[in-house]
Amino acid sequence: MEVENLVRLQLGRGNMARRVGCATSRFTGEIRTYARKITTSAVWLCFCLLFPSPTEAGLYTASDQVILLSPENVESVLINSTAAVFAEFYASWCGHCIAFSPVYTSLARDIKEWKPAVDLAAVDCAAEENRKVCTAYGIREYPTIKFFHAYSKADSKGQAFKASTHDVRVLRHKIIDKLENHEEPWPPACPPLEPTSQAEIDSFFETNNVQHLALIFENTKSRVYMADLESTLHYSLRVELAAHTVIKGEALTSLKKYISVLAKYFPGRPVVMNLLESLNSRLQTGDEISYEALREILDNTAQSPDTALPEGVRWVGCQGSQPHFRRYPCGMWTLFHVLTVQAKNARGTGTDPREVLSAMRSYVHSFFGCRACAEHFEIMASESLVEVNTLSSAVLWLWSRHNLVNNRLAGALSEDPNFRKIQWPSPEMCPACHSVKENGEHRWSQEQVFPFLMSYFSSSTILTDYLEDESQILAKQKEKHASQQQALEAQVRVKRKAREALDSMTHPLPSQSTVQDEEEEEEEEEEEEEEEEEEEEEEGGEGAAADEMEDKTSETTPWAKPEMEVGRGRRQAHRKPSIVGLRMRELQEDIVDLDSFVNQHYKAKALQVAVSSRVKQRTLQRKEEQDPGPVFGLGMQLDAGLGMVGLQPMEADFELDVGKQRKKRELAGQRFVEETELSHSGRLMSVLSIGFSKVDISLCVILYFLSSMSLLVMCLFFKRGLRLRRGKLSLP
Ligand code: FAD
Repeated sequence: MEVENLVRLQLGRGNMARRVGCATSRFTGEIRTYARKITTSAVWLCFCLLFPSPTEAGLYTASDQVILLSPENVESVLINSTAAVFAEFYASWCGHCIAFSPVYTSLARDIKEWKPAVDLAAVDCAAEENRKVCTAYGIREYPTIKFFHAYSKADSKGQAFKASTHDVRVLRHKIIDKLENHEEPWPPACPPLEPTSQAEIDSFFETNNVQHLALIFENTKSRVYMADLESTLHYSLRVELAAHTVIKGEALTSLKKYISVLAKYFPGRPVVMNLLESLNSRLQTGDEISYEALREILDNTAQSPDTALPEGVRWVGCQGSQPHFRRYPCGMWTLFHVLTVQAKNARGTGTDPREVLSAMRSYVHSFFGCRACAEHFEIMASESLVEVNTLSSAVLWLWSRHNLVNNRLAGALSEDPNFRKIQWPSPEMCPACHSVKENGEHRWSQEQVFPFLMSYFSSSTILTDYLEDESQILAKQKEKHASQQQALEAQVRVKRKAREALDSMTHPLPSQSTVQDEEEEEEEEEEEEEEEEEEEEEEGGEGAAADEMEDKTSETTPWAKPEMEVGRGRRQAHRKPSIVGLRMRELQEDIVDLDSFVNQHYKAKALQVAVSSRVKQRTLQRKEEQDPGPVFGLGMQLDAGLGMVGLQPMEADFELDVGKQRKKRELAGQRFVEETELSHSGRLMSVLSIGFSKVDISLCVILYFLSSMSLLVMCLFFKRGLRLRRGKLSLP
């Protein structure tokens, strides 16, 4: 008997044994329950006769664990379902059907735990609206029970299932037999035979009220699980490749070959295949790829629909008895055996028979973490890979090389004591694969080994148990993107704060003497900002529309948001470049990019001295402007001005004020250059004018001129008086 059938038989019997136990206990109480049910049913019947709903007018109700078929749901229940379905076609007026209905309801309740794998359904052919359904399935007599295996095709009419008994236990056995004997796909939710421990068996009778328990003893559970294959992909692509920051040259060629055979032959679920496909097409271009970029594709950052590679590992067939046994290398071997078999099954014309093996060889050579393993494999490949000239010989080559490795490693420390390194497959797994030579030596029957490998690693026999649901994977992926998005936004906010903090450092902390002026300055700037905002609003809401667009885009294409946010952050930072609103900020709590912070910090320090004096000078200027002042006020201003020698001249300052709006939008570094240039050009003027205005200088000159003139007049007056006196004295 083939291994697959053997395992299925064991599975069925195991479950059957358990169900028999459960049902025995249930069945004793069934008669009492039945009598009670008749009474309750009578009440319900009266009610239902008064108000029958179309679906519940038949012999079953929604609470009976029986799916009520109708023209609307019949296809979705019976066709391409993941569960096997037994469907009863009955007529509610038929006496046999009425008599059978409590049996069918009990059966449904009894096997309700099998639900994801096996379902019971029923349709009332007496109902006018169901007539077409019953005709379509060729129903001529009632009741008729039909079996629809998992993934039944659209044109399937179901297989006849002879109930011929009212014994629920017999019916349950019949269902198990039907499941075991049919050759169509096995319902994926059919539980595998789970290993049990001595302790579980001991406690079984303490917690279960059954008299018999059937146990099946088996040596190993050897099957290929999709969970192992997906775990291998995750580990190889997200962990092993992550050691390579940039992949180029020979490594890139290896990666391309690896991804190409995966995209071609990996028998994965649609979401995984979509991801491998997008990875493959991305690798077609470019001479190198960073792991970052690769990771973005693996995590589907672009949010392509129905595209995902489940994260994390779930080892099932490759689970070791201890964490350091088996796992990834076991998954790697399994993956490549599956790929060689898939390539053979694909029978692509003109396919290179060594395509998969040379992809494996170069992947192992470039990336496989166990370097000694990679070297050994490379030696084997260079010695004999050339012998492979057909797709079948590729399957056998990998099998025989794997056995060479098993032989070398038998008894090594890396051998899991529960999974010995044997020459595989064992005689128990494939008796026909083994034969004996005339001299008594063991001999492989390759003509038997080949079909065994083709069946063992075939996509149709890969178990999908323990796989995370696709919808869950996609939901998790979405959640991850959303939280990454939030983290990015938070980062942008922090950077914006840091930038504002740095801007504030280019202004001095307010001294007591300037607080009032700076508050006025704040007011001024706030007014300016209000004006700016009004202007923006007046611009036909263009800016607002752009902002709105940003918001909308960020919803639909979240990966684009960070840049926009940065842009907006910058704009906001530039809107308030001064100390406005920054005095209350606690800078030490902000997380800042260290390099840019140090850089900006020293620039800011250099600016601080120059800018702080500028603020003071502007304060002085404002006082002067507020109080253009009579001549007698000059003395006080002169005193103040003397202390400001070397500061920016008024002309320069005037220019600064004119271009204030523009300069506000510039980066601190640009401001630094500009202010430095201005201060150089005006220094000479500054020294000469010592901070006085043109009016002051003109007044000074006039005063000087007037006082000189009066001095001259006085001088002339005294000279004339002296001359007159001398004339009088000289007269006789
Ligand atoms: P594995 O040998 O990993 O086999 C995995 C599964 O494949 C088995 O459970 C079985 O179901 C099936 N299988 C076993 N034999 C065959 C066969 N002949 N044909 C088809 N299917 C088979 N370890 C070292 O210590 N030294 C090495 O040099 C070394 N080289 C390696 C080279 C490669 C390319 C790989 C992928 C692994 C290598 N390893 C090496 C790891 C080692 O071979 C085993 O993978 C690891 O010890 C785990 O063993 P396992 O019991 O899980 O079975």
